[in-house]
Amino acid sequence: MPRSKKSSTVAMDRLFVKILARLGQLTVKEDYLGKDVHAMWEPDGTITINPAVSVVDSILHECLHELHPEWSETTVLQQTGKLMAYLSDAQVGQIYGEYRRRIEDGE
Ligand SMILES: [Zn+2]
Repeated sequence: MPRSKKSSTVAMDRLFVKILARLGQLTVKEDYLGKDVHAMWEPDGTITINPAVSVVDSILHECLHELHPEWSETTVLQQTGKLMAYLSDAQVGQIYGEYRRRIEDGE
């Protein structure tokens, strides 16, 4: 029997509340884990978030729009994916470092 939208919504709301409550009990850190690892959970209740992956992906995407306004959204998405696959951990780290400096300088 297919699940109704309502029971699925209730389940999602319950899961959301459980996650929010548990999050308050966890140790949450940020660290650079290389360009391919978004985050890591450890059984001791530590979650390490690697913001560089999603931030750099977004920066590459928006910079490609800046450099190539004639490119379609599909082309920008494809080129962003190719760049993320091509760049080294160090290069992704460089772009993330530049992003952090720009945010902190308020430029
Ligand atoms: Zn776009």
